[in-house]
Amino acid sequence: MIDRLIAFPTVSRDSNLGLIEYARDHLARLGVKPHLVYDASQKKANLFVTLADEPDAVKSGGIVLSGHTDTVPVDGQDWASEPFRAHHADGRIHGRGTADMKGFIAIALAWAPRFLAAQRTMPVHLSLTFDEETTFIGVRSLVADLAERGIRPAGCIIGEPTDMQAIVAHKGKRDFCCTVRGREAHSSLTPTAVNAIEYAAQIIAFIRALADRQSREEPRDARFIVPHSTLQTGVIRGGIATNVVPRDCVFEFEMRNIPATSHDTMTQPILDYANGELLPRMRAVAPESDIAFAMGLDLPAYGIEPDAPLVRWAMELAQTARLGTGAVSFATEAPIFQHAGVPTVVMGPGSIDQAHKPNEYISLEQIAACEQFFGRLIASRPPVG
Ligand SMILES: [Zn+2]
Repeated sequence: MIDRLIAFPTVSRDSNLGLIEYARDHLARLGVKPHLVYDASQKKANLFVTLADEPDAVKSGGIVLSGHTDTVPVDGQDWASEPFRAHHADGRIHGRGTADMKGFIAIALAWAPRFLAAQRTMPVHLSLTFDEETTFIGVRSLVADLAERGIRPAGCIIGEPTDMQAIVAHKGKRDFCCTVRGREAHSSLTPTAVNAIEYAAQIIAFIRALADRQSREEPRDARFIVPHSTLQTGVIRGGIATNVVPRDCVFEFEMRNIPATSHDTMTQPILDYANGELLPRMRAVAPESDIAFAMGLDLPAYGIEPDAPLVRWAMELAQTARLGTGAVSFATEAPIFQHAGVPTVVMGPGSIDQAHKPNEYISLEQIAACEQFFGRLIASRPPVG
């Protein structure tokens, strides 16, 4: 099954329908009814299925096994084997997406008949999403669709590669593109103009000051390598010549917050400063001046109590799992399920160290660990609480 899924080149920018339709047909042959939710372009879809003869009877309850179907690209990477053909060697399966995270999806699909057989005691849902590596649009529409159809799972396991260890926290991320528009003039006449670069620089300095204050004052979350929220400006463009007061400046900045700090706490002061303090000064000289913030990615931080029933249950079943720090630096779909009221833990086979790189692989050992986990899962009952 891993070999089959790797052969679908589901890079985020491309369609994932080949894989989704393959999974749909595989599941339909078992007598269940996968539900597909397409994106606006009809080129991508999520798949959700309840592995039960009467899915309506398990609308409340059951555990979701969830994975994203898209992968990062392979452009410019030096691969020793064909990235979209599984290559078996030295106790490993190589291929783009083996670790992140088609290995998990494939094992779950292969286990579907056994999940189905265990439906009376341990109902399982499968969830396959698109666009996790880019926008998180897929999982948002999937979770919205579940709410619309009144499906309220008791918990969710996101099978991102964690070496089968339970992950209970990661930072959130929000980024903005800020466009500053002033008024241009010959540089000998600067007082008649509004210098967009200089105003952008003031916002950037404000962002930096906010970042410094956060690093000094925010209560630490020691699970993270950088134990506080961060802000930084990553891109800037503006101006055309030294002797022209620049009319336009565009820059991009991002914020990464620890679970205890909200997105808005971190970014609202920036918007307030720009619109409340800088814009009136700019408009006093040139009424056409403007500062616009366009939000890009907006992913909440993820956190679940380390001793939540779902986490304890998943760790017990995985056996290989130890909580360790329980936090990772990569983002997942977990906060989207979590914010929809579905307790969620991140745990899956393979290592993030191998993800996104050339010669990505999953070890047969990790595949076996995931299968043992599923074996204990079907012999278990969903956690209560
Ligand atoms: Zn992933």
